[in-house]
Amino acid sequence: MHNSSATLPVILTGDRTTEPLHLGHYVGSLKNRVALQTTHRQYLLLADTQALTDNGRVRANVLEIATDYLAVGINPNETTICLQSHLPALAELTLLYMNFVTVARLERNPTIKDEIQARGFGRDIPAGFLCYPVAQAADITDFKATIVPVGEDQAPLIEQTNEVVRRINRQAGVDVLPEAHALIPRVGRLPGIDGKAKMSKSQDNAIPLSATADEIREAVRRMFTDPNHIKASDPGRVEGNVVFTYLDAFDEDRIAVEDLKARYTRGGLGDSIVKKRLEDVLQAFLAPIRDSLRALARDPGYVLQVVKCGTARAREMTDAFARCSRCA
Ligand code: ATP
Ligand code: MG
Repeated sequence: MHNSSATLPVILTGDRTTEPLHLGHYVGSLKNRVALQTTHRQYLLLADTQALTDNGRVRANVLEIATDYLAVGINPNETTICLQSHLPALAELTLLYMNFVTVARLERNPTIKDEIQARGFGRDIPAGFLCYPVAQAADITDFKATIVPVGEDQAPLIEQTNEVVRRINRQAGVDVLPEAHALIPRVGRLPGIDGKAKMSKSQDNAIPLSATADEIREAVRRMFTDPNHIKASDPGRVEGNVVFTYLDAFDEDRIAVEDLKARYTRGGLGDSIVKKRLEDVLQAFLAPIRDSLRALARDPGYVLQVVKCGTARAREMTDAFARCSRCA
């Protein structure tokens, strides 16, 4: 089945094993992963080591996130799902790469800056947290990945990976490592339902993939729109209006969405009509995922079994698997 897989372009991406995944993860990355798994050699890394840099509850989340993958349509026969902590080569490479990046450069990384602020670390930044872009560079390059499907917030991290790649190639005098391309979707960052820039579990503004019908209804009802659009007849703003951003991300009928935007901007279209459309779209999108999550929850043994890092073809493809503690 995978005879030609060795020649396919390689994807590596993944998720920190913190909270269960939400619509933001789907829009930013999961959707592309599902779409590309048949035409690429895809690896998904459950980044449990990275999650330890700022989080305690990691083990239970490995199961939760693997379950989320399968529920949205990741096919374990097409995609190799693996566990970061079981691949010692990644840690070794991280240590080596530490010599190719400066603390000042890490502190200047805009994503890291934002995240340090959001977590309130002040100067008490765990060194492992500051260095997680280096670990990410190790993950991407060890798999020789050239495509990394991620949300917009990750772009500076891929840039930093490529800086490490260029340094190492220059030092080696030959291109030993390929550069990676961040594959960012049209809607690259899904805002929170409260209008904040990023949907995030920690900000309590997320719709998880497991949301019930009632939770979806309530989230859409609470959703931030244009605060100056008071009467239906008022002209409204589409930019920064979360309901329209979600329609852009989830409504397949682009023409209908553009028509709604035009009517809203002109005036004469109430929030409740736009919200009703979004609610219908999200209910239809999440219902089958919720059903799959329920079915998978009855069989955690199956889910854990697909978190493998030692399939024969995986071992052929990457050094990372050579000394995996699960496949030894
Ligand atoms: P959270 O803060 O909710 O846990 P996160 O940023 O920690 O989210 P990660 O596990 O670091 O999530 O990222 C997994 C992937 O999901 C990354 O590619 C990231 O860009 C993407 N992602 C996460 N949240 C969003 C969002 N709101 N919009 C688009 N992409 C997102
Ligand atoms: Mg996360």
